[in-house]
Amino acid sequence: MNRVTAYVGLGSNLENPLRQLATAITALAALPDTSLVAQSPFYRSRPVGPQDQPDFVNGAVGLSTGLPALILLDELQRIEKSHGRERGRRWGPRTLDLDLLLYGHEIIHSPRLVVPHPELTNRDFVLQPLLDIAPSLALPDGRTLEDLRAQCPDNGLHRLEPRHGPQTGP
Ligand code: ATP
Ligand code: CA
Ligand code: CA
Repeated sequence: MNRVTAYVGLGSNLENPLRQLATAITALAALPDTSLVAQSPFYRSRPVGPQDQPDFVNGAVGLSTGLPALILLDELQRIEKSHGRERGRRWGPRTLDLDLLLYGHEIIHSPRLVVPHPELTNRDFVLQPLLDIAPSLALPDGRTLEDLRAQCPDNGLHRLEPRHGPQTGP
């Protein structure tokens, strides 16, 4: 079976974001023909777009998967729905956002799926957790995460310390 390493970005700013991310990672690890190979620390970040919403918690995971990219996208959207994701205004608040950041070295341009994720290079809250789990990774075009992170404007990213016990807020 052909397996690829796929990277998924996670974000939440509603209804206990830390727990949303933790349970999403459990769901990702349980996908068929898929295993979790890396999990980043979590970060607090300011929202993209409308500012009248809570800060986000973001992270990234690496998956080793035999699922085709579009099937993986279906699964990400199913997990978003099972976490109460509602489609509101663009870049509005959400319980869970799962973006397929990278799928091996593939470049994909389909109506439902663009990989590498088009905003990846502009977002410190995506590049930093990716860099944490894949420090020597490069995009299909050869640009390294390290260079991209160095060039990306900082937007007040704040690393969250791992916590134990009940989680009550970001
Ligand atoms: P952004 O893409 O800027 O992070 P967003 O995450 O808020 O914005 P969504 O509303 O979650 O955007 O997704 C809109 C659509 O983007 C989805 O229905 C999906 O088909 C499409 N899409 C295209 N490429 C990707 C990708 N790499 N990962 C996830 N969704 C994608
Ligand atoms: Ca997103
Ligand atoms: Ca998304």
